[in-house]
Amino acid sequence: MTIERITILGATGSIGVSTLDVLARHPMRYAVHALTAHANVALLAAQCKRWQPQVAVVGTAAAALELTALLRAAGVRTEVAYGPAALCAVAGAAGCDMVMAAIVGAAGLEPTLAAARAGKKILLANKEALVMSGRLFMDAVRNHGATLLPIDSEHNAIFQCLPHDFDRDCQRAGIAKILLTASGGPFLTRDVATLDSVTPAEAVAHPKWVMGRKISVDSATMMNKGLEVIEAHWLFGAPAAKIEVVIHPQSVVHSMVSYVDGSVLAQLGNPDMRTPIAQALAYPQRIDAGVAPLDLATIGSLAFERADLVRFPCLKLAYDALTEGNTAPAVLNAANEVAVAAFLDGRIGFRMIDRIIAEVMHRTPAIAVADIGALLEQDQVARRLAGSLIH
Ligand code: NAD
Ligand code: MG
Repeated sequence: MTIERITILGATGSIGVSTLDVLARHPMRYAVHALTAHANVALLAAQCKRWQPQVAVVGTAAAALELTALLRAAGVRTEVAYGPAALCAVAGAAGCDMVMAAIVGAAGLEPTLAAARAGKKILLANKEALVMSGRLFMDAVRNHGATLLPIDSEHNAIFQCLPHDFDRDCQRAGIAKILLTASGGPFLTRDVATLDSVTPAEAVAHPKWVMGRKISVDSATMMNKGLEVIEAHWLFGAPAAKIEVVIHPQSVVHSMVSYVDGSVLAQLGNPDMRTPIAQALAYPQRIDAGVAPLDLATIGSLAFERADLVRFPCLKLAYDALTEGNTAPAVLNAANEVAVAAFLDGRIGFRMIDRIIAEVMHRTPAIAVADIGALLEQDQVARRLAGSLIH
């Protein structure tokens, strides 16, 4: 078996760490080409010692100096680089076969695109990149012969429930609906009137999944599910009307595909991201992920309910952005990133998140853009407007 070489963008995050955990179980199959992190130099240094990548990338010159010192002291020869251009270089490098795109937010867009343009196998966790750039990203994947495998547990589940020759044509595949499951997050049953007073600590305490802080807040507002609706649209070629969100608090059914003959196919498993990561790493083979077997008798029962768009206005905003099209999803994403960061810093209340996004979307007309430069300009316009609503 030939060893596959991987670049992990966002190696120190929740997805990055889970990816390395799966790789460690299969040393004869995988080696690491590059690891990247923004600021967590200590963890990145420890990962470099263990994995001996060719390159490590950090966010700033100061972090690069610090990392270099730690690595040289430990006798590790990994080359150290920093900044956005270095991220793109390790994502598109000849020395890597596949890229785990696990940077959080818009910062992941350009390196993930670089992987697409270099025709890599891309394991996509960074949903914001696809939400922002939609058609431009999918075109890059197709035009450069890249392979896109979803890591987001819902999309990975859907991928597993689709026919093997699926080509993003839901009609031809006989798909009636894509059913995206959602846990509902920590505030599924909390009195809506008290939502404005929730703290960042309450919002990031997800009942089922341990994740980074930004996606945890997105799960509490259900913007995460909204971004996933848009992600599903691009990955599977499904119109908004064919993508339905179903609340499923146990997080055991990771999503479903409903076919025109009445069949509904589901993928089940314990809520552990190592399952979708292993599925995509080894696809079409199966490898051990270190995940405990699912014990349905212990779980006992599975519940489902409709999503409440009054409790979760962010979900409605995301459907609106998908329907509006063009730059609307990028504007939604930019406003959300700014608002969530402000909430996590204690500068705004929880309910201001959806209000700021709605206002930014209302004031920013969606336009057609032909390239990533023009898209990033609109992203900046939306960020500035969101920022002005906060200060
Ligand atoms: P995290 O916050 O735990 O990790 C983020 C990683 O990105 C870190 O390695 C960090 O150093 C790096 N990073 C942050 N800002 C950066 C910047 N400006 N430039 C370069 N690197 C930067 O996040 P996470 O929970 O691992 O999520 C990563 C992505 O995966 C997100 O897009 C998230 O939506 C998606 N995702 C995560 C999960 C999960 O279970 N954690 C599930 C599905 C999808
Ligand atoms: Mg998900």
